[in-house]
Amino acid sequence: MRDAPNTWNLLRLLALMLTLLAAGLAPSAAAERTIYLTFDDGPLPGTANVLDVLESEDVPATMFLVGLHVEAGAERRALLKRAKSMPLVTVGNHSYSHARNRYKDYYSDTEAVVADMQRANGVLGLTPWVNARMPGRDVFRLRKTFKEDISVNAAQYEREAVDFDFVSASGFLLYGWDFEWVHKDSGEPVQSVERLVSEIDHLFRFNRFTRRGKMILLMHDQMFQDRFDGKANLTALIRALKSSGYAFGDIRTYEQ
Ligand SMILES: [Zn+2]
Repeated sequence: MRDAPNTWNLLRLLALMLTLLAAGLAPSAAAERTIYLTFDDGPLPGTANVLDVLESEDVPATMFLVGLHVEAGAERRALLKRAKSMPLVTVGNHSYSHARNRYKDYYSDTEAVVADMQRANGVLGLTPWVNARMPGRDVFRLRKTFKEDISVNAAQYEREAVDFDFVSASGFLLYGWDFEWVHKDSGEPVQSVERLVSEIDHLFRFNRFTRRGKMILLMHDQMFQDRFDGKANLTALIRALKSSGYAFGDIRTYEQ
């Protein structure tokens, strides 16, 4: 009689160990609700705070950087170097000029678009295949994922599709996004962290993302400046998502 509870406890312990092992090893379990953090437009004021938080929270993320912003000074170059030294951070190409924010003009010249993306590769020190995001456009050109930006009118996106096809064929993997933490012109975030997390929870209930169970979250480096409490906000977001059971994905394994 004395042996029975001991055997029972041992079995329970074994079952628990197997569950923990399975949770740690099975990517499919984590992949059910995975968030890909992406930060655009750096290096800018705010970028250092983003890197600090990614380091302290130990989560993967992608920094889609702008060549012109890297060339703005030694401090910006140091931010590129720092981002590239972080194993969980993917440095991506977000063009050289950011289209100077004149997207329609920019996307009227395919050769110039390809050249602008390649110029940024030179500044960022990236070689194909390069993870990239086009300025101002939510388009995907991946091995298994292909999507146009439906926020521009049909005639416009049909015209621009040629540009994305040529960029893609030149050695770029293009990522759009599923959801945005929006900011004002000043860079100030619009949604509170609490609001953003409830929006993310809501969207996962519908799970209508580009790839099932995977949300690419778009943010911009300038939202995380000290004057907007950037470090505290980003830390709060990551911790809230962690405690809600979300996994953080590395963009390099997005299609796996
Ligand atoms: Zn941008």
